[in-house]
Amino acid sequence: MNMLSDISLAPIIQPIVGSAADLEHLGDQIAELSAHLDAAGARLLDLIREFDARGGWNTGFVSCAAWLTWRVGLDRGAARERVRVARALGTLPLLAQALARGELSYSKVRALTRIATPETEERLLRVGTAGTAEHVERIVRGWRRVDRQAEARETARRHASRALHVYQDGDGMVVVRGRLDQEVGAVLLQALAAARETLHQRSRATHPGTGPADVSEETPTMSQQHADALALIAEAALHHGMDPGTTGERYQVVVHVDAAFLADPDAPGESVLEDGTHVPAETSRRLACDASRVVMRHDADGRVTEVGARTRTIPPALRLALQHRDRGCRFPGCGVRFSQGHHIRHWAHGGPTTLSNLALLCRRHHRAVHEEGYGVERPPDGELRFRRPDGRILPESPPPAAVPADPVEALRAQHDAQHLRIHARTAMPGWLGERLDVGWAIDVLHPLAASGRTEVETHVSKGGAP
Ligand SMILES: [Zn+2]
Ligand SMILES: [Zn+2]
Repeated sequence: MNMLSDISLAPIIQPIVGSAADLEHLGDQIAELSAHLDAAGARLLDLIREFDARGGWNTGFVSCAAWLTWRVGLDRGAARERVRVARALGTLPLLAQALARGELSYSKVRALTRIATPETEERLLRVGTAGTAEHVERIVRGWRRVDRQAEARETARRHASRALHVYQDGDGMVVVRGRLDQEVGAVLLQALAAARETLHQRSRATHPGTGPADVSEETPTMSQQHADALALIAEAALHHGMDPGTTGERYQVVVHVDAAFLADPDAPGESVLEDGTHVPAETSRRLACDASRVVMRHDADGRVTEVGARTRTIPPALRLALQHRDRGCRFPGCGVRFSQGHHIRHWAHGGPTTLSNLALLCRRHHRAVHEEGYGVERPPDGELRFRRPDGRILPESPPPAAVPADPVEALRAQHDAQHLRIHARTAMPGWLGERLDVGWAIDVLHPLAASGRTEVETHVSKGGAP
């Protein structure tokens, strides 16, 4: 049997006047090969799931999808979708098996994995095998509408339950108890951590000699530290007239670095945040790579003798030219648009701020080259070259995969060896042509729709239930 030549020659030999039987045969071949490809696709998703779970992509790539884009040449959207479906199938064995047997197309599986859970998988598999791809798509859309309504109700319920109770206890202490929205909670936690750090720095500055021998000052417990931190937050908020500041100021980070230290991490000097927190040398070099900078000169006693004007490390005009040339992160397979200018040879080492010494890198990859041992160089031939931490070159695109001379034949042989019986009707839906009533179908299938029937009723057309 020689499938490949059948497929490619038949239309050439009989370009227009193919008999109906010939065309039916051609159609069968399309259906059969599609089922084979879907079965092979299931195997591919298994491999992707394992690679993802074991972090095989975590070699300078931001995600498994980014790695797939680079290694296999999928576009970003398709790569993300493959990873999503692969992960979902990890908990949906029935859908995974149906795909692996070629009985359910990848399109249907992709749609069904958006909504399926281990509890609903079995009935959704029946939808998948009975209905056409269009039916499946419509049911998934209706299902998600019910999910979204439930989610919106849940979010509204949670938000309505936000509360902060403050009352005085019998002994005069004030008791605080509350429930905060997630993002508000995150801000509170961040503020508590910052306030705790400030208090810690203050106590170190006022009691430098405090050691284990000093029993009069016991280290406060975490909840005591939180109580102190909350007091500082309240004081600071009142002191600053409740001004949350502009976003620019709010997240600005100031790093003080000694110039000699920036050029050589072994040199005397250090790199600290405004509150005195130590910053690793490589981190301060990354931050200095593309930042606004104020140069201050100190005398030996640390008194400031001269303050320069605030300048950008990379002047705006050069930044535009750099953006125009690189367009986005230059790390192999990345291309993220929001990126920072990286000095290939750091300016603290005398590297010039010129186009040839600069390359755009996204935040993730800027960290990779400064702090994770990845290398970037521009040899005399002018093309950027990246290296892994072990020194091996990270190519812009990977070497092509080995493909057998007749891939279709190899695929069929492999499926034969697995005793998979795939034929032209393997993926045929069981649908007999009756009208699909999506509203009724969702009402019957969706666990939430069944209980919250009033929400769904508006979508059910009159007399829909057969
Ligand atoms: Zn840099
Ligand atoms: Zn990047």
